[in-house]
Amino acid sequence: MSVRTRPDLGSLPAYVAGRTVPGAIKLASNEVPGGPLPSVRTAIADAAADVHRYPDMGVTALANRLARKYDFPVERVAVGCGSVALCQQLTQALCAPGDEVVFAWRSFEAYPIVTQIAGATSVKVPLDATHTHDLDAMLAAITPQTKLVFVCNPNNPTGTANRHEELVRFLDQVPPHVVVALDEAYREFVTDPDVPDGMEFARTRDNVVVLRTFSKAYGLAGLRVGYLVGPAELAEVVRKVYIPFSVNSLAQIAALASLDAEDEMRERCAAIVTERQRVADELLALGYEVPETHANFVWLPLGDRALEFAEHSLANKVVVRAFAGDGVRVTISTREENDAFLQAARGFSR
Ligand code: PMP
Repeated sequence: MSVRTRPDLGSLPAYVAGRTVPGAIKLASNEVPGGPLPSVRTAIADAAADVHRYPDMGVTALANRLARKYDFPVERVAVGCGSVALCQQLTQALCAPGDEVVFAWRSFEAYPIVTQIAGATSVKVPLDATHTHDLDAMLAAITPQTKLVFVCNPNNPTGTANRHEELVRFLDQVPPHVVVALDEAYREFVTDPDVPDGMEFARTRDNVVVLRTFSKAYGLAGLRVGYLVGPAELAEVVRKVYIPFSVNSLAQIAALASLDAEDEMRERCAAIVTERQRVADELLALGYEVPETHANFVWLPLGDRALEFAEHSLANKVVVRAFAGDGVRVTISTREENDAFLQAARGFSR
């Protein structure tokens, strides 16, 4: 073949999406059940008439709305085609070949991918014994080459979270030229007041970036829209490496409508949080190890039996997400769907 692709991309890991299996319940992608919020669904339908037009390239209305919501100047906001796109834009904005990106492992599987695409090097720091970010070890992993540290709080796929005091201690010690990206994709499911709202840190520190998404609590995963708040100079470069028009017009309208429906969203999250506790309690009663979760999923650290568990669950018509040799992540859904999963978990012989 005469085409020469970048040799360093030969080893690029593939992003593995949660599977959809006809006839089976999907608890594999941390989606919320029930579709978009009712008022948002109407707004999307109304907006369909205008899809022959290009979307607003600057995502102006949504960026302004987010800036007002969190009380930041709009220059500090960037909107992206899902927060995964913003992870990639952020890495591109900060890193060149030879630079290092530090993150916990296991954590969100896009971090090593976006790092490698930027030509930079991943530095993976093992989670601690409670499946939580080991912030001291992450601090120790920072070198003069480090440009970016991802802290996923709560962490995907373990659901664990770092507390206010330890994050302050960590941020106080990170060198000022290193950017800390607090990935808060699951923030809306946090109920523990000791798990900090990253916006507080973005407000007071000029090397902190917060990433959020409309994919999870707001139920817009299929439309692809997320946002970032960070230092203005960095947000500007993140916007520059944006693929033109990649936040489509329906996504922009739906995200705006979602921000008008916060009460509906909060009600939904509360129901998921109640179910989360019920599922975790039942799993614990069955003898499973279940780390404390702050997100809309639970983690079962099953080690070598992770794949086997996922196959057993699929045979019971429930799709979960297995990470080979490590564990299984199960999305919290409606009571009925969670019961189907619990039934499968009950039947797994250990
Ligand atoms: N961050 C984390 C921790 C995630 O789990 C996800 C979704 N799996 C994302 C970011 C990206 O979400 P999206 O691109 O749908 O906004």
